[in-house]
Amino acid sequence: MVHGFDPSRRNFCLCCLGATAFAASGGWLSPREVFAKSKTIVDMIRQSAAETPITVHPLRGGLFVLEGSGGNIGVFAGRDGKLLVDAGISASKPRIEKALLAMDETPVSRLVNTHWHFDHADGNEWLGKAGATISGTLKTQDHLESAQRVEDWNFDFPPSPASAVPAEIVEDGSTLAFGGKTLHFVGHPAAHTDGDISITFEDDDVVHAGDVYWNGIYPFIDYSTGGGIDGMIRGSEAILASAGDRTIIIPGHGQPVSNRRELQAYRDMLVSIRDAVAGLKAKGQSFDEIVAAKPTAPFDAKWGQYVIGPDFITRLVYEGV
Ligand SMILES: [Zn+2]
Repeated sequence: MVHGFDPSRRNFCLCCLGATAFAASGGWLSPREVFAKSKTIVDMIRQSAAETPITVHPLRGGLFVLEGSGGNIGVFAGRDGKLLVDAGISASKPRIEKALLAMDETPVSRLVNTHWHFDHADGNEWLGKAGATISGTLKTQDHLESAQRVEDWNFDFPPSPASAVPAEIVEDGSTLAFGGKTLHFVGHPAAHTDGDISITFEDDDVVHAGDVYWNGIYPFIDYSTGGGIDGMIRGSEAILASAGDRTIIIPGHGQPVSNRRELQAYRDMLVSIRDAVAGLKAKGQSFDEIVAAKPTAPFDAKWGQYVIGPDFITRLVYEGV
C-alpha cells in the first residue's frame, strides 16, 4: 500500500478538495493526510472553505475565476447582473460576496451547475434565495432533489431544499443569451458523473469544463452517480475539439486558468493509463497485481501529488475498463 491505505476499500474521499484544503493544511494535502481526516472529509472541506481566502483571476470580456471554495467558480459580470458557473461551498459566502461586489454592485441573477457535487453546488441555496435562477442538467436536478450516496466519500447527502435545485434544465446543445453574450452548453455523458455539462462563452473564447478536466492532478471519477473513465476521455476530447490556441479553459479543479495544451496533456495521460490498465486487466491480472505493476508510473511525479494518488487513479480506471 503505497500511501498507507487500502485503495480497494474506497472509503475515503476524494473529489473535490480544492485550494481550500491546501490552505487548511498549509500546502498540498497528501493522501495520507486525507486518510487521517477521512471520517469527516465532507465536513473538513466545508470547514476548510470557511477559512480560505477567495482568489480572483480576471480573464477577459468581464469573465473571472474565483478560486478557494471547492471547485473553480466562473463569473461573468455583465449588464444583466452576474452569471456564475458553479457555486462553491456555502461557508465561503462572505468572501464570495465580497469578491463579487468588488467587480460591480449588480446581483447574481444566474447560476449554472456543471454537475451536482457539493463542492460545486453547496452554495446553490444562498444564491437561489438571493434571487439567482439556477440551471443544470436533468441528472443534476435529479441528484440534488433526492438523497445521494458517494461511496468514495463514505457520505450520504440529504435532498437539497427547493431553492437550491436547478429550476431550468440545460442539456447538450442548449444555448443561453445573457448580458449580450451567448453561452453554449455541451453535455458529457458518463464522465465525472452522469450529468456533466461544460459551458462555452463563445464571444470570449472561454470554456468552463467542470470536473471533466482536472488541471495537473489526477481526477476523481464518481462511479456512484454514473461516471466512467471512457466518458472522461471523450469529454476531454470534445472540449479539445472545440478549443483553439487562444481558448481559455477553466478546469473544475487545479490551477484555474488553463489552455488547450494543458488539456491535451491531461487527455493523453488519461488515455495512456486507461490503455495500460485495460491491457493488464484483459490479461487476467487482479487489481492488486495491476497496482503492483505501477501502470501510472510515468505520470505520477506530475499528476499524482494531490489527493488522488497512483493507487487510487488505478482503481478508478480499473473499475471502468
Ligand atoms: Zn465533482
